[in-house]
Amino acid sequence: MIEQVIIAGTGPAGYTAAIYTARANLRPLVIEGTEPGGQLMITTEVENFPGFETGVNGPQLMDAMRKQAERFGARFRPGRVQAVNLQTFPFRLVTEEEEFQCLSFIVATGASARMLGLETERKLMGHGLSTCATCDGFFFRDKEVLVVGGGDSAMEEANFLTKYARRVWVVHRREALRATRIMQDRALRNPKIEFIWDTTVRELHDVDAGSVTSVTLENVKTRETRRMPIDGVFLAIGHDPNTGFLKGELAMDEQGYLLTHGASTRTDIEGVFAAGDVMDPVYRQAITAAGTGCRAAIDCDHYLEALKEKYTNRTWDELAEGSDARQKA
Ligand code: NAP
Repeated sequence: MIEQVIIAGTGPAGYTAAIYTARANLRPLVIEGTEPGGQLMITTEVENFPGFETGVNGPQLMDAMRKQAERFGARFRPGRVQAVNLQTFPFRLVTEEEEFQCLSFIVATGASARMLGLETERKLMGHGLSTCATCDGFFFRDKEVLVVGGGDSAMEEANFLTKYARRVWVVHRREALRATRIMQDRALRNPKIEFIWDTTVRELHDVDAGSVTSVTLENVKTRETRRMPIDGVFLAIGHDPNTGFLKGELAMDEQGYLLTHGASTRTDIEGVFAAGDVMDPVYRQAITAAGTGCRAAIDCDHYLEALKEKYTNRTWDELAEGSDARQKA
C-alpha cells in the first residue's frame, strides 16, 4: 500500500501536521518515534501555550492533540524511522519492523536537548530540572537557580531567568565562554548572575525528595567537589536535531538542522517537508513547532493536489506506480 502522506514524529509539529492533513482527507500515517508526544511529555506545567488560561499539564496537552488527530482519521504506528530512500518515488521509509512507501513525507522528529548523562536526570526532569527557561522560568520566582553551559543558549537562559530568580549561577566547564561577545557581556554585566568557572555538575539531588534541592559540583582543575543548595537547574548545553537517519538524503546545516526554502516547509526534495524543532534552531517552542506543523500540512496538501491535478483520472496508487510520477508532475 502506498500512503499519501507519512509523518515522522509526535511532538506538537507532528500532531498538528496530522490534524491538518487528516482534515484534508489525506489519511496520514504517523510514525510515533521513540518518545511519543515529544519533549512536552517530560514537562509538568505548560503555561505559555495559548488557549489555556491557567496552564496545562504537558502530557495532557499532547494526549489531547493526539486524540484530535485520531478523530479526523490519522493513524498511528509505534516505532522510529531508521532509514529512508528519498531518491526513489514513491519514497521508501524503514522502521524497526516495517517498510512503508509514500507520496509525501513530513519530517517532525524534533531535537533532543543534550543531557549531562546522569542517572538522576530523567527522574528530576520537570521537578526542578529543566531544559527550557522560557517554559519553566516562571516557577522559580525569588529562588536560586543554576544554568549549565557557556554558549549563547546558556547566556540567554541565565538572563531570562533573572526576571524571576533571586540569583542565577552559571556553571561552565571551562574558563572561557563559547557565547558570542554581546551575549557574554550582557550576562557578565547582569548583577543577578554569578559565574562558576572550570566546573561541572557531578550529581543532582534529591530524587527521594522528588525535586532538585542541591547539586554536587566538581572543579575540573583541582578535582575538588562540593555540595551546593539550589532550587532549580537549567541545562543549556545544546540541542541535537534528530536527523541522523536523513544524513545524505536531505540538505541540512552543519549542526544537522534541516534546511527549508524561505517561509515554506519544503526541503530540497520535492514532496518532503520539515516542521518543528528539526528545522528550527532558534525558537524551539511548542507553539512555533505547532505552527510549522500546520504549514507543512498545507504545503503537503498543495503538493499532492498538484500531483493529482496532473493525473485527474488516476487513483493515488496508480499515480504512484512507476518511479517517475513525481518528475512528470
Ligand atoms: P553550543 O553553542 O553548542 O554551546 C553549548 C555549551 O555547553 C558550550 O559552552 C559547551 O562547553 C557546553 N557543554 C556541552 N556539553 C557539555 C557537557 N556535557 N557538560 C558541560 N557543558 C557542556 O549550544 P547553544 O548555546 O545551545 O547554541 C547553539 C547554537 O544556537 C549556536 O550557534 C548559538 O550561537 C545559537 N544560539 C543563538 C542565540 C542568540 O543569538 N540569541 C541564542 C541561543 C542559541 P564548551 O564551550 O566547553 O564546549
